[in-house]
This record gives sequence, C-alpha cells and structure tokens, in this order.
Amino acid sequence: MNEDFIIALDQGTTSTRSILFDVEGNIVKISQKKLTQYYPKSGWVEHDPLEIIQHQRETLENLFTETDIHPNQVKAIGITNQRETTVVWDKNTGKPIYNAIVWLDNRSKSYCEELKNKGLENYVQENTGLVIDAYFSATKLHWILNNVLGAKEKAAAGDLLFGTIDSWLIYNLTEDKKHVTDHSNASRTMLYNCKELQWDAHLLNQFGVPKSMLPVVQTSSSNFGNVVVKGVSIPIYGVGGDQQAALFGHGGFKPGIAKNTYGTGCFMLLNTGEKFVSLKNGLLTTIACSLPDEPINYALEGSIFIGGASIQWLRNKLQIINEATETEAICNSIPPLEDVYVVPAFAGLGAPYWDAKAKGAIYGLTLDTGKAEIIKGTLDALAYQTKDVLLAMQKEEGIELKKLQVDGGASANNYLMQFQADILNVPVEKPKMIEVTALGAAFLAGLKAGVWKKEDINKLNKTETTYLPNMDEELRVKKYSGWLDAVERTRVDY
Ligand code: ADP
Repeated sequence: MNEDFIIALDQGTTSTRSILFDVEGNIVKISQKKLTQYYPKSGWVEHDPLEIIQHQRETLENLFTETDIHPNQVKAIGITNQRETTVVWDKNTGKPIYNAIVWLDNRSKSYCEELKNKGLENYVQENTGLVIDAYFSATKLHWILNNVLGAKEKAAAGDLLFGTIDSWLIYNLTEDKKHVTDHSNASRTMLYNCKELQWDAHLLNQFGVPKSMLPVVQTSSSNFGNVVVKGVSIPIYGVGGDQQAALFGHGGFKPGIAKNTYGTGCFMLLNTGEKFVSLKNGLLTTIACSLPDEPINYALEGSIFIGGASIQWLRNKLQIINEATETEAICNSIPPLEDVYVVPAFAGLGAPYWDAKAKGAIYGLTLDTGKAEIIKGTLDALAYQTKDVLLAMQKEEGIELKKLQVDGGASANNYLMQFQADILNVPVEKPKMIEVTALGAAFLAGLKAGVWKKEDINKLNKTETTYLPNMDEELRVKKYSGWLDAVERTRVDY
C-alpha cells in the first residue's frame, strides 16, 4: 500500500477547510469550519484574518487527530483561496491593521469611478487584463491605506505588508514567515502587470502603494516554505486562486480547455495559451496556475454573479422549493416546449453584459404557468448565461470548444447538466469528485513533490458522467433566441 498523502488548504468565502488526499486523488478526510461574515455597512463585507488563521490551523491539525495518518506521511501542502480579498498587516507585530476586505465588498466603487474619469481604464485593461472594479484588491488596499489611522505613514516607512489570503496564510503558517504569492493570485490584484510579469510601477504609484508592501510572486507549483505540524515540517509546494486552481484540477494547463464552476455564482475559465490578450466583450484576462520551466498560460474568465444563488432565491424568498435537490425532478416533469425565461439579474448582469443597472425579470407567463415552470426557467438561466459567456469567448478566441468540464454544487443537478449540453451543443463532462478546486491545489503541490506527473490528472480527475447534446437544432435556436430577447428586454431602462 502506498502511504503518501497530499493536503489541500481551501480557504473560501464562507468556510475554511483542510482536505487530505491519497495518491489516487481520493479524499481521505475533510475538516471544515464556517467563517464569520461581517457586514459593517451596506455593500461592505469583511472577514477576521485571525479567525482565518486559527481555523486553518485547527482544521489542518484535525486531519491527524481524526485519522490514523501521521504528518510524516504527507508529502506536501497546496493552498487554494478566495481571490482578491485583501489583508494588510504590521510586519513588526504580525497583526492585521484592519479586517480582511472581501472580494464582494464594493466600498471603493466611487473611487473606481474617479479612476475611470481619470482615464485609467485602458491602461488597466492592457496591462492587468482586468476592468476597473471594486472587486479587485488594488482599490481595497488603497482604502485601507487612506482610512486606517497612521497606515499611510507606516506603509511609507516600510512597516506594513499586503497580501491576498494565500500570502496571509503562508506568512502565518511558515516557519520563517515567508511573504510570497503565486502568479494566479497576483493577477487578481489589479497591481500586477500580466504582460511583463512584475508589479506595475505606474499602478503602484496611482494607488499610493509602496513596493515594500508587496509579496514576492512565485510559480504556482514551487516552494512556498514549510509548515510545522505536530513537530513535522511539511513543505507548501502549490498555490492557486480558487478559479484557476479548479481549471488546473480539470487539466486546464493546455490551451482550449474550459471549465465552468456552478456555485453561488458561475465562473467559466478557458485556457488561451501563451499569448496575453487584453479584455474585450466583457471578459477578463487572467493568469492560469504556472508551472516551473514552462511559459505562463493565460485564461479568459467570464464571471456570472448569480448562479446557484437563484436556486437559493426560489427556496428562501419565493419559498416554492424546500431543497435545491428537488428542482431536478420538477424540471424533468415539464414538457420541453413550455418556455418561461427567468433573467436572474438580481445583482445586475455580469459577463458578458456588465450591466450594473439591470434588474431580474420573468418572461413568457401565461395563465397556465405554475411554480414548476418558474423553477425550470430559473435553472435554465444558468445554462443560458453559460452559453452567453462561451459564445463571447469563442468570438474572442476563434476556437471551437470540444467539451465543457464542470464542477461546483449545482453541477450535481442532472437536468441542468443535460440542458447545458443541449443548449451549447457540446458534451458536458462531470467528474466523480466535484471538489476540483482542492484537487487542483493538491495537484500543484504533488507535481512539485514528485508524487504526480502532469499526465496523471486524467487518472485523478476521472469523468463520471458525460452529457451528450440531444436537442434538435431548430429547438435549440428557438430557445436561445428567446433567452437573448428576454435579456434584451431586461436591459431596457424603465
Ligand atoms: P459555493 O462554493 O459558491 O458556496 P457550492 O459549489 O457549494 O457553492 O454550490 C452551492 C450552490 O449550488 C447553492 O447556491 C445551491 O443553491 C446550488 N445547488 C446545490 N445543489 C443543487 C442542485 N441539486 N440543483 C441546483 N442547484 C443546486
């Protein structure tokens, strides 16, 4: 019996987890803690950085108290994390000077408008691949420097450090307090020049960020320092932002591979190879997880804000379902010709529309429309939105997608996955184990540790179900044009 193991630390928006994988990629143990969410004002979202560290340590140690496995059997640790979330700490005390400002937090949106008015948009787009938005770290960091008493002065004196959650974890977990990050996380800060692969001096200047605050950027599969667990020193050999780690876990280190994660939102990433293309069509360009001695690969990213969240809306607000899992049987019970469109623009529309003013709407109601049709329309919208993003990507890249690989909570829904294949006219492949994000982080670490080779990903992430397209072309066109029409109507200013 082979007794090597790899650990993934998965620090997400709502929970902190440690996951133990065996060399076959099976999950042996998961330890998890719920993370407290702070909403100090409307639109503000914060986490306590010290709670994150405490939970990460506890869950890591639980893996060894709740199994017979000893830390010296663990070859390496990989980290995957909620992206963009920003922490600033004092390097003399190691203590954060403010809570972590979470990616969802939009307190800096009016500052973003100022930046756009200053004409910074093109520069940001062409050098970072991003749009100017409160979502990314740069304006959150600017807020902390300008609103926490004494922060600016301390930063100028070289006493403060900045990091996304990966950096914060590594700084606290490693023996020699390493201040590092990886390419995939750096590319989400809006401070990293993704063409030149270095922190962007012009943007640092714009945001008033001293270079001394920034972590060293490393290859995603490299040595990030050692963590001591029960007296055993284990190396961190992998780091990847959650969406890029999921792409990696799907084997997306090759151009042309795309994945879609159906969680609260939906995030589609497509590996576009070695060429940096700056954003068009409402898509972001980002750096995929990087490998030693290999050129950087870029990915196009389409972010859909409301995915599984609309299923939660059916349950919590409309109260027409008790559980998300009920929706599959309900949808299968409706004849396919009934078309009700639910446009879930509850938080505006993300990619490829980026229409912050759009509001949700339901179209196609008749006297015989019941709750089942509304449920089905809500599920279908996840698939239609995915098609919108995919078409935008294909237009940019001129490539034809051969298959879509999926993961995330709502990918458990067989109706949705079949409808996705039908509406895209592309096979949809779902792995047996849908924890692909954690697997991606473990895989980055396992590669460096020599436990796995790149070609092993197909053995580790086995496709369990393939959904083949099975819809008439005429019906597909009719349904999708009905969706586009509904979106168009939603975007009309009332
Ligand atoms: P996150 O990582 O964003 O918290 P998850 O990947 O855990 O999200 O997925 C949870 C989401 O998936 C929820 O929004 C839930 O409504 C949705 N979901 C879970 N199971 C199903 C199902 N069987 N059918 C449809 N949606 C589902």
